[in-house]
Amino acid sequence: MERRWLKGNLHTHTSMSDGDSPPAEVTGWYRDAGYDFLAITDHNVHVDPAGLAAEAGPMLLIGGEEVTSFDTHVNGLGIRETIPPGFGEDVRATWQADIDAIRAAGGVPAVNHPNFRWVGDAASLTGLTGVTLLEVWNGSPECNDRGRPGSPSSEELWDLVLTAGTRLWALATDDAHHFRRWGRAFANPGRGWVVVHAQPTEAGVLAALERGDHYASSGVELADLRRGSGEIALEIVPLADLHYTTRFIGSGGRVLDVVEGTSARYRIRGDEGYVRARVDDSDGSSAWVQPLFAGDRPER
Ligand SMILES: [Zn+2]
Ligand SMILES: [Zn+2]
Repeated sequence: MERRWLKGNLHTHTSMSDGDSPPAEVTGWYRDAGYDFLAITDHNVHVDPAGLAAEAGPMLLIGGEEVTSFDTHVNGLGIRETIPPGFGEDVRATWQADIDAIRAAGGVPAVNHPNFRWVGDAASLTGLTGVTLLEVWNGSPECNDRGRPGSPSSEELWDLVLTAGTRLWALATDDAHHFRRWGRAFANPGRGWVVVHAQPTEAGVLAALERGDHYASSGVELADLRRGSGEIALEIVPLADLHYTTRFIGSGGRVLDVVEGTSARYRIRGDEGYVRARVDDSDGSSAWVQPLFAGDRPER
């Protein structure tokens, strides 16, 4: 089966936990919005996608759960049954316990919203094992992704962790809870997603996420993305008259280059540690391209 670019949301709630709408309605919202895949991730309960085939139509449903250990939350993707939350002596040990439980169940873990209730920090994320995915952008108003004075944003945490040598790929998600009331105070769908280069199966999408073959978006769409052989090259789908700025970012969060316009390219020199790209449009939306690591041999 060929790989295609597939749009999906990996973090969604329903009335099976604290969302306001039943799984069938939530599934229907994403199907009607044209998503290629969706994971329903209710708190501490696995909602079986098998019962939602009619509502999903052509959209792929990925089994999920948000394993919720008080304020530290880890999504389990591709799981088949409810995984109970784990607890460790601190935030880091709790994250690791949930990651390990998800792996033991055959799932793919993703560390969610590290700034929720301001519990996380770079030291707690650095050195986590068995995990490849970190939510750096979350569409709900409760997750403090943009940081505050003295607390890094989720994206800054990502750079701190990458710089310390722990390789995590970025996710953007809706963390949608509200499908009946709309506005800034609500966690509405359609705000953050990933676009994955994958075969259109659960296993295909999860494998692509784990190898970083995806970008995260809060609105910017890419027409083309090539990441490998020592360079990152991308083309942006322009929307109306918006202006686009691409920043190539390296170790320590250092900006290596800034490119204006709808096409950008960066060739690794070798001393950057890693290079990732962030595209911003003039209307406040972004896309995040996964890092290439300067010391690695060229990827296929
Ligand atoms: Zn959460
Ligand atoms: Zn959530």
